Amino acid sequence: MTPSAPQAISDDPAAVVGAGPVGLIAALALARRGVRTLVLEAEAQQRIRPGSRAIVLALPTTHRIDTVLPGLGGRIRAAGIGVSGYDAFYEGRRIFLHRSEHGVLGRIARTDRLLTSLPQRVTEGFLYEACVREGVEFRWESPVSTMETGDGGVDLTLASGETISATYVIGADGARSAVRRAIGATMTGHTDDTPFIIVDVEAHPDGSTPLMPGHFYYREPRVDGRNVMHMPFQGGMRVDLQCTADDDADYLASPDGVRDWTSRIIDPWYGEHITWISTYRFHQVVADTYTDPHRRVLLAGEAAHLFAPWGGRGLNSGVLDATDAARAIAAALSAPSRATAHRAIGRCAAYRRAWGLRNRDVSSRALRIMRAPDRSTRLRRDLAARLAPACWPAAAWLANGPLQLPGPRLGSTDLY
Ligand SMILES: Cc1cc2nc3c(=O)[nH]c(=O)nc-3n(C[C@H](O)[C@H](O)[C@H](O)COP(=O)(O)OP(=O)(O)OC[C@H]3O[C@@H](n4cnc5c(N)ncnc54)[C@H](O)[C@@H]3O)c2cc1C
Repeated sequence: MTPSAPQAISDDPAAVVGAGPVGLIAALALARRGVRTLVLEAEAQQRIRPGSRAIVLALPTTHRIDTVLPGLGGRIRAAGIGVSGYDAFYEGRRIFLHRSEHGVLGRIARTDRLLTSLPQRVTEGFLYEACVREGVEFRWESPVSTMETGDGGVDLTLASGETISATYVIGADGARSAVRRAIGATMTGHTDDTPFIIVDVEAHPDGSTPLMPGHFYYREPRVDGRNVMHMPFQGGMRVDLQCTADDDADYLASPDGVRDWTSRIIDPWYGEHITWISTYRFHQVVADTYTDPHRRVLLAGEAAHLFAPWGGRGLNSGVLDATDAARAIAAALSAPSRATAHRAIGRCAAYRRAWGLRNRDVSSRALRIMRAPDRSTRLRRDLAARLAPACWPAAAWLANGPLQLPGPRLGSTDLY
C-alpha cells in the first residue's frame, strides 16, 4: 500500500484507467491543471474502434472541452456536421420540420449548431493528440486487474502482476469496469428488452449525405410500423431500427436484412455501402457509488453509468463526469488537510451520481416515448401527433421524444 505521506510531497501520478473518450478528456483535464497523469489502457495503441458510436456531441459538451483546452471544443465542432434538429414523422405523416426557425433545437436554443455529429473515434483522436501535447503518459496493453485504496493513495495491479501507485484514480474503464468492481460499487437499474439495430453506412459520393436532415420516424408504415431514424455524421450516416418483440432481430441485423429495410427509407445505394452493423439491448443503470470509502477514486463515463444513446446522455455526461473529477482531484491534491481533500472528492461523487440518476431517467423517458409500452403514453403520442399541425408545443414534444433536449437542473448550469 502507498505510505500515508502528505499529498503535496507524493511523487505518484494521478492515474486514469481507460483511454476511451472519457478517460482521454479526464487525463487532459488533469494535465491542464498541472497534475502529473498516467493513463493505463488495456488495449493496444493501434486498436481499431469499430462503428460511429457516440456521434452526437452537444454544444455544452464542446464548450466544456473548450474550458479544459481553449479552442479544442471548437476544432471538434468544426470537424463535425452541425445539427439543429431533424424532421419527425408519425405513421407516415411529417409532424415536425427541423429547418428554419421551426427546428426543435434551433428554436429553443437559438442556434443552428446545438449538436455536432461526428464519429466517436474522431473525437477520441482530437483528445488523444491534445493529451500527448500536454505531457500525459500512456501505458497501452496494461489492463488493470485489481486495485486497493487507502488513506495514502491507491495501488493498481496490472494483469502482468506489476503494481503502480497513484495519488488518485479516475475509473474510466467502461461498461465492465475493473475499477468499479474494485471499489465494490454495483450498477442498479434495468435493461430495455427491445433490441435496436444500429447501422453505419458510407457517405454518398455525390456529396449529399452531410446535407441530409436527420429523420426520426415513429411507427413508419414502410418498415411495418417500427420506429426508424437516420442521422448523418461527418463521413457517413447512422441508421437505427427499433425492433418489436416478435421480430427476427438476427435477420434484420444481417446484411440482407439491413439492405431490405434501409432501402425502404433511404436510397438503396446506402444498403450496398454498409460499414458497421450492431444489435444492442440498452442498459439503464447507474453505480450505487462513484467513489471508494477513502475518497481516492472517482468513476466516470460508462464505468459509472450505462444509458441508451437516445437522449445523447452517454458521452455527453461522461465528459462532465471526467472534467468534474479532474477538478475535484486537483482541489484534493492542493487541499490543506486530508479532511478537505476527502470532502472535495465526496462532493464530486455525489453531484455526478445525482446527474447519473437524472440522465438515466431522461434516457428511460426517451425510450418510453419511443416504445410507448403503456396505454397512456400511446394516447399522449397519438394526441400529440393529431395536434401537431396546429400546435407547435405538441409537435415539439413528440419530435423531442427521442432527443430529450436537456434543460438545466439541480441548481447548476450543467445540462448532463
Ligand atoms: C451504438 C452506440 C451509440 C452511442 N451513441 C451515443 C451518442 O449519440 N451520444 C452519446 O453521448 N453517447 C453515445 N453512446 C455512448 C458512448 O459511446 C459511450 O458513452 C462512450 O463510449 C463511453 O466512453 P467511456 O470512455 O466511458 O468508455 P469506453 O469508450 O468503453 O472506454 C473504456 C476504455 O477502457 C478500457 N478498459 C476497459 N477495461 C480496462 C481495464 N481493466 N484496464 C485498463 N483499461 C481498460 C477499454 O479498452 C476502453 O478503451 C453510444 C454508444 C453506443 C454503443
